[in-house]
Amino acid sequence: MILALYEKTAHELQELLHNKEVKAVEIFDSIIERIGQVEPKVHSYITLAEEQARAAAQKVDDKLAKGEKLPPLAGIPVAIKDNISTGGIRTTCASKILENYIPPYDAAVIEQFKANQLIIIGKTNLDEFAMGSSTENSGLFITRNPWDLEAVPGGSSGGSAAAVRADETILAVGSDTGGSIRQPASYCGIVGLKPTYGRVSRYGLVAFASSLDQIGPLTKDVTDCALFLQAIAKYDPRDSTSVDFPVPDYLQEMKKGVKGLKIGLAQEYLGEGISEPVKKVIFEAAKVFQSLGAEVVDVSLPYTEYALSTYYIIAPAEASSNLARYDGVRYGYRTGERVPDSVALFMKTRKEGFGPEVKRRIMVGTYALSSGYYDAYYLKAQKVRTLIREDFNKAFQSCDLILTPTAPSPAFKIGSKTKDPLEMYQEDICTLACNMAGIPGISIPGGFAQGMPVGIQLLGPAFKEETLLRAAYGFEQATEFHKERPTAVNS
Ligand code: GLN
Repeated sequence: MILALYEKTAHELQELLHNKEVKAVEIFDSIIERIGQVEPKVHSYITLAEEQARAAAQKVDDKLAKGEKLPPLAGIPVAIKDNISTGGIRTTCASKILENYIPPYDAAVIEQFKANQLIIIGKTNLDEFAMGSSTENSGLFITRNPWDLEAVPGGSSGGSAAAVRADETILAVGSDTGGSIRQPASYCGIVGLKPTYGRVSRYGLVAFASSLDQIGPLTKDVTDCALFLQAIAKYDPRDSTSVDFPVPDYLQEMKKGVKGLKIGLAQEYLGEGISEPVKKVIFEAAKVFQSLGAEVVDVSLPYTEYALSTYYIIAPAEASSNLARYDGVRYGYRTGERVPDSVALFMKTRKEGFGPEVKRRIMVGTYALSSGYYDAYYLKAQKVRTLIREDFNKAFQSCDLILTPTAPSPAFKIGSKTKDPLEMYQEDICTLACNMAGIPGISIPGGFAQGMPVGIQLLGPAFKEETLLRAAYGFEQATEFHKERPTAVNS
């Protein structure tokens, strides 16, 4: 079967570009044509940056024609989650409050994309300010799952994940505060990596919960994920949480094989709340790892059960503080009504500009931080967070990685969980602890249930992304799940 350019991976296209068998502008044209065909069904993009992208692709071609040696991802299209600042390109966070906001500067990862000459195709949909698990909280429109147009793509990086799986881009970047890269990757059948806290600069990422937020790749396969991480893992003094830690050669490390790795299975991730087909996928995956020479061992993470309640104190508390800046004065939306004073201006603007989930988080967070309640909620949550981190430290004394589900079930139907916020929050039970501990996590295609993709998650010690990639690549080589194509979007 001959694949169209838009169906290929970054590393396949890279070779074609290098051998002068294809031009960057041809890749770009192929993606734009594909967007024209499927975007009316999927709705991944909030903004397209067609003109700038074409000019950037032409520049790559000009350089290649002159025989210049270019970085590995030069000429490869990338889609950007719309909470990452792009100078001169609208950045909405899928919120009415920023609907017309054009940032004056580029985020650090955007600078990296430009330095590596990637082609920025456009900005993708998300849950408003990245708060959600289905992209249904977008203040603009909903995105659909390429495998089932009546199902959600996951969230909050739902637009990025759907765009990759629907072949509307080759690579996409997302942010992950409690699972927002890995869970949509699982629902859409692609690879998603949340790097260690401090590995990738968040300079220019619109802050949600600053002690948890990380930026990371969404890709079609593990090789692309390694290439992509290589391009964005970089120390940046402008992000005070960025860590100056050596960046290994991920592509080389990835190929070291699974043999000899110790992979932990934790009962806490395989009990109540996890659907049977998902459990089955995990046990099958464990067998694959064993057949590749890994040893599977039991580990225990007893504080996992508190991850959800702890996260929903810490994340809203930090969000309530971060979102105080949207006041209708400095930038963004301002109420059109005449108001008597500045307090009325703030109140009206925020009432009209924020959606219901964002308001809920601001209220919960403000309450948790208020005097008299701070010790009982925020401080207590921080203590439990330390216990969760220690759980992982202990577990990693007896294994290299931990294998868990990414999400408790495959993608659910649009509208089926919007009435009860708690039900929606349950979608994150497998991904939250990783952010709380600051460790890296990857989701890769691990199987199917009722025709929908199911991801498996690998968690590793801080700054051991290379071990995650190594196990993920070994698994991918031994399985075919990542090659499956969604029919819904193509019919
Ligand atoms: N779904 C989680 C939340 O709603 C995580 C979101 C994220 O990782 N940005 O907060």
